Amino acid sequence: MTIDAAQIEAVIRKVLATVPTSDEPAGVEGDGVFADMGAAIEAAAAAAKAYRRSSMAERRRYVAAIREVMLKPENLDHMSAQAVIETGMGDVAHKYLKNKFAAENTPGVEDLETSAWSGDDGLTTVEYSAYGVIGAITPTTNPTETIICNSIGMLAAGNAVVFSPHPRAKNLSVWQVRELNRALRAAGAPENLIVTVAEPSIEATNAMIEHPAVQMLVATGGPGIVRTVLSSGKKAIGAGAGNPPVVVDSTADLEHAAKCIVDGASFDNNLPCTAEKECIAVDSIADLLKFNMVKAGAYEAAPEEVARLETLVLNEKRTGPKTQWVGKSAAELLREIGVEPPVGVRLIICEASAEHPFVVHELMMPILGVVRVPDVHAAIELAVELEHGNRHTAVMHSRDVKMLTKMGREIQTTIFVKNGPSFTGIGIGGEGYSTFTIAGPTGEGLTRTRNFARTRRCVLVDDLNVR
Ligand code: NAD
Repeated sequence: MTIDAAQIEAVIRKVLATVPTSDEPAGVEGDGVFADMGAAIEAAAAAAKAYRRSSMAERRRYVAAIREVMLKPENLDHMSAQAVIETGMGDVAHKYLKNKFAAENTPGVEDLETSAWSGDDGLTTVEYSAYGVIGAITPTTNPTETIICNSIGMLAAGNAVVFSPHPRAKNLSVWQVRELNRALRAAGAPENLIVTVAEPSIEATNAMIEHPAVQMLVATGGPGIVRTVLSSGKKAIGAGAGNPPVVVDSTADLEHAAKCIVDGASFDNNLPCTAEKECIAVDSIADLLKFNMVKAGAYEAAPEEVARLETLVLNEKRTGPKTQWVGKSAAELLREIGVEPPVGVRLIICEASAEHPFVVHELMMPILGVVRVPDVHAAIELAVELEHGNRHTAVMHSRDVKMLTKMGREIQTTIFVKNGPSFTGIGIGGEGYSTFTIAGPTGEGLTRTRNFARTRRCVLVDDLNVR
């Protein structure tokens, strides 16, 4: 599938200036929005109880209503533009694509497959059943995409959901919860299947984690929040940070590899946890790869420019990014260090050592360190090291099936993309469904409806075996 991002971008840029902000401030209650977390959870618990009486056909209808309201052109425009405006991060056109894919390609009720045994002793079925109330913590980097895919999967599995959005995305997240509630009400769903608080905060998130009526926690975010939910004593799914390496060996189609890397590493200004965060190139092809990356929209920073970039974007200890530069465009970063950005520039590349902070740390901005290594074996070894055991995402460009296999076996990531941009791994231009909650630490992988359900066995003794 070819994604014509340029065309979409042109349209979005036009509407960006005219997109209205929500006319209801975040603080207003109603339509699933509550003043305090306790009240929100109680409402969700009542909704979950009422939801048990809904048929599967009704569930399907409610999920369809979520997709429909999120796919309204004015809502897609609003979410994509407002996310950039409110969080100060990312790219409107790419957010539009992410929201659209989340609404269209997240699995629904059909994902809940029943298994059965029948025999002389009767009939036993194993069915996916709701947890009840799920507490979902969502990131700044994909604020609306995560609420879309979590809402679809969690409601399809029969649950109610309490969202704890990042405070930096609160207005948009609260707006989205309202829109979802209005659509669900119109479809006849129980009230308050999706709730949040008017003023999201760390304190509200912690109250949600501890509340006894919340039976399951799903955290999409950095290592801190994943650690917190995993030590909560509750069933938890942790979708944490990544530092995806992209390896290019001497057999790769270099022009194609270069374009894919620039596309993937610049997607939404490198915010996705799946985006290429460092490049490891075999020495013999590194120059040609960089030449093709520049042709595809990258700018190669000279050593003195790299030094200025380091001062600009790294925190004092050089262990990660300064938050204010996360998700900014390559053009903004270049301008800030006194470089006039070339027309159409999407990514900044620079040669770096394997120990350089641009290579070692997850920056979430379109700066890609390129590390030279003598051969493909050294490249794979370094990729494993730089992935830091996150088991998240890795990419490789190669025509050598043996080496692709070796990398897949060694790196053990949840997503391994071969000969394509990283976003194909979440179903954008690649086969497979979409999700924005990728659970490496807890092993669910690309989360889907069945991950938000528990299995229950029903046994009927002696009868209903008709063979
Ligand atoms: P973040 O960890 O700062 O915040 C994520 C969420 O956790 C927010 O809702 C935030 O309010 C909450 N939170 C953070 N610390 C908390 C604490 N101490 N107590 C209570 N709540 C807390 O992350 P972010 O900047 O919003 O998102 C970027 C990070 O998320 C990156 O590391 C990225 O790789 C990761 N991410 C992972 C996935 C995935 O599917 N694996 C998807 C998107 C983002």
